[in-house]
Amino acid sequence: MNEFELINRYFKRGNFSSGLPLGIGDDCAVVAVPDNHQLVMSVDTLVSGVHFLENSDPSLIAQRAVRVALSDLAAMGAEPLCFTLALTIPHVEENWLRGFSNGLHKTADEFECELVGGDTTRGPLTISIQVQGLVPAGEFLCRDGAGVGDMVCVSGCLGDGAAALELLRGDLKMGVSASRYLSDRFYRPTPRLDLGKKLRGLASAAIDISDGFIADLGHICKASGVGAELDVDTLPVSEPVFVCADTAQWRQWALTGGDDYELCFTVPQRNASQLSRMINNQGLDITVVGHIIGEREIRSAMSGELLTQGVTGYQHF
Ligand code: ADP
Ligand code: MG
Repeated sequence: MNEFELINRYFKRGNFSSGLPLGIGDDCAVVAVPDNHQLVMSVDTLVSGVHFLENSDPSLIAQRAVRVALSDLAAMGAEPLCFTLALTIPHVEENWLRGFSNGLHKTADEFECELVGGDTTRGPLTISIQVQGLVPAGEFLCRDGAGVGDMVCVSGCLGDGAAALELLRGDLKMGVSASRYLSDRFYRPTPRLDLGKKLRGLASAAIDISDGFIADLGHICKASGVGAELDVDTLPVSEPVFVCADTAQWRQWALTGGDDYELCFTVPQRNASQLSRMINNQGLDITVVGHIIGEREIRSAMSGELLTQGVTGYQHF
């Protein structure tokens, strides 16, 4: 099979909408940007052996790759528009390509974010996904707006990613339903796109939690020139994580484990009642875990102890 047959068989699909006048097959894809909107984009690269094991289920690799990329759009308050794929594979293995492209298209459908182009090359298995999203002009969320007194909030549960990694490595034993929950959280993290949209005009800063809560909150604090004081007792953890670990362990996972893809954001006090209305009336899964302080450090409110990102925050270099 040559390169073009491969692209046609596994990656090209028809059905482009009015927002996507031209998809796979020409030199470039063409997308329409609605009036008064801005294009938001981000690229992520996954290297076999570094970000996933070579023998992982290819459909799950694809689903995770797209979902993780979409999480960056959520953190910006953007809506998904489309994505491109740069794929490097060591050889043509049809079973792998079938699984991978199925996972890719399934996720594209789930989030209405179509694959519009890419590049295919031979080499060590590497997957780059560039996502594009839209945001009303000027309403994107960024990292540098946190102010002293703002509430520090997180969505969902923290620590699932770290616990799942231990489970997948075989270092953690748990029941069937708990392990199913954790491996689903790992391979199919939910990009908090709906929440990101709702945070426009409400949050002063936002980031998605990929490196670990302290590390990512640290990015907000650094960009904003502030620090934070956290009530570590209020950190939200899921039932499976709560049950399988002692307090010190789950607290460490929640504070420093990565791969949760929840949103961490700050909300000024003037928006407090709007935030609690959102939590109470719309049932949004949000926890206030602390507040922003002027000192440039992240510390525990109870003990004053400095909270550091620890050794788990993965850095490539
Ligand atoms: P060019 O040489 O003009 O850059 P290519 O030959 O690399 O174009 O690709 C041909 C078409 O197939 C382009 O529209 C490109 O976007 C698309 N394409 C190539 N690889 C992929 C892929 N892995 N997934 C999706 N589309 C792809
Ligand atoms: Mg060309």
